[in-house]
Amino acid sequence: MSHDPNCIFCKIVAGQIPSKKVYEDEEVLAFHDIRPHAPVHFLIIPKLHVPSLWEVGPEHQALLGRMLTLAPRLALEQGAGNGFKTLINTGADGGQEVYHLHVHVIGGPRPWRVG
Ligand code: 5GP
Ligand code: ZN
Repeated sequence: MSHDPNCIFCKIVAGQIPSKKVYEDEEVLAFHDIRPHAPVHFLIIPKLHVPSLWEVGPEHQALLGRMLTLAPRLALEQGAGNGFKTLINTGADGGQEVYHLHVHVIGGPRPWRVG
């Protein structure tokens, strides 16, 4: 499934739910987290609906590489020049709340709310 009509991040990709965009290209979208843990907290997602890391396969290698390669560039642009965390929560025990793959990029001046 390339798009899940019930998925909140697919709705953000489609523009049906507003988001504060950080970056967009044909395959990837990045937007600010609605409940930030730190001064900089945004999510990098594939436009394709991939529920979690459990579902990735060899066909997603370039996409994952693109997402992770964007992280330092966007972190710097957003003001996390002194360092940042990247986080991918997977499944129930991993604390995943939204089942559309996303990389958290968390940084900016401390203290942070979490982490
Ligand atoms: P997870 O726990 O699945 O790794 O993280 C999901 C993240 O998505 C949470 O940090 C949450 O604040 C964020 N989030 C959930 N719904 C929305 C939304 O509608 N818009 C935005 N911008 N972020 C959201
Ligand atoms: Zn989705």
